[in-house]
Amino acid sequence: MKLSFYGAARSVTGSRHLIETPTSRLLLDCGMFQGRREEAARQNRELGFEPKSLSAVLLSHAHIDHSGALPVLAKHGFSGKVHMTRASADLAAIMLQDAARIQESDCAYVNKKERRRGMQCVRPFFDSDDVEAITRRFAGARYRDALKLEPRVTASFHDAGHILGSAAIRVKYTARGNTTTVLFSGDLGRANMPILRDPDPPPPCDILILESTYGDRLHEQAAEEMKKKAEALISHARAHKSKIIVPAFAVGRTQELVMRIKELVTESRIEPIPIYIDSPLAARATAVFRQHPECYDEETSKTFSADGDPFASRYIHFVSTVEDSKRLNAMRGPCVIISSSGMCEGGRILHHLKHAIQDEANVIVFVGFQAEHTLGRKLVEGWDVVPIFGVPTPRRAQVVKFNGLSAHADRHDLLAYIRAIDPLPGIVFLVHGEEKQALSLGAAIQAEHPALDVRIPHRGSTHDV
Ligand SMILES: [Zn+2]
Repeated sequence: MKLSFYGAARSVTGSRHLIETPTSRLLLDCGMFQGRREEAARQNRELGFEPKSLSAVLLSHAHIDHSGALPVLAKHGFSGKVHMTRASADLAAIMLQDAARIQESDCAYVNKKERRRGMQCVRPFFDSDDVEAITRRFAGARYRDALKLEPRVTASFHDAGHILGSAAIRVKYTARGNTTTVLFSGDLGRANMPILRDPDPPPPCDILILESTYGDRLHEQAAEEMKKKAEALISHARAHKSKIIVPAFAVGRTQELVMRIKELVTESRIEPIPIYIDSPLAARATAVFRQHPECYDEETSKTFSADGDPFASRYIHFVSTVEDSKRLNAMRGPCVIISSSGMCEGGRILHHLKHAIQDEANVIVFVGFQAEHTLGRKLVEGWDVVPIFGVPTPRRAQVVKFNGLSAHADRHDLLAYIRAIDPLPGIVFLVHGEEKQALSLGAAIQAEHPALDVRIPHRGSTHDV
């Protein structure tokens, strides 16, 4: 068997790993690179392997850094199937359509400027036709079912507890009575996340490909502490008729926040407060969440059967039209507005910030990682004047950050995941982490299991196993 790493190797985005056996070429994930525009564009156009040569693709989950280059495969003649869980198939379809739209409008914006400078036009690396072509190749599987991909190769999906439909993927290859098993963790979630079941214990494997996003970090803030902080914020909003503006990713994080606020209401810790979810993608994603109760944990299943819809409540409002979104600008609080993008780089959140940021009664709440150079990062860093739509805007609203909401396993969880594999695998490849994270986790694994072969692959490297 050969393993090659084409992305998310000593970095986080562009997850793409290839398993080759004498009879098959299986691609694990086909993610989009994100980061500096030109470098990312090149990595997204050139996959590093020939799409036509692939037998099949196995997708761990729908996040764009894992699924976002799938349409490029269709564009270049890939004609196999893309296997994933059923929930992932539904989520990936709407997220890829959204990604195509964003690319088309980004390119139109860049081209407008480039044409003025007499430069060549950029083209999206895929469009909505490519998205349609690849979604026709999607095959939804149930968790833990063994899929026969070829006479000697089977694959199965195991709950990863990261986002709806997320899975660790196990590939089993048998030849001359010998079986080799590869387990790819995908992105690992954490126990006790709202909505989702806890990650399945890892099945036995010979080779583990493990994510390392938080390889040198432990998550802060216990659940009870976060609840107290949210309680205080909502009481503040009530007393000062303020708006709580929450930039959040439309898929996963938004639904999680709704469930967390509902929980506070159910526990009578807060009075209901109007929540506006202002993102068409979040509305579409929530519809997918409703269609997949098989992914819920026990608590969410109970809510689902009690009121028919875990995401509905008289105080929760989905905002779809632009007019309704604009109406929120003039409205007075108290209310919570959840909108995207999560790092304030575009989308409707910018309008909400523009209208709310100069009022000291308002609060901007961050619930996720803010990358360098983004507006979100500037706000988290406490800048007093920030650019919104290119206009320097004074910030008077309070900024609050919640650190404990990550959907990723931390260092402690990752080490526990390896410990739970019985018997221990022979080789562990660490992927999906910045170099510093991967190296630190690698050293910790090696110290705990001296006999284990721990490797941190470089992008483009191939390993015989
Ligand atoms: Zn993910």
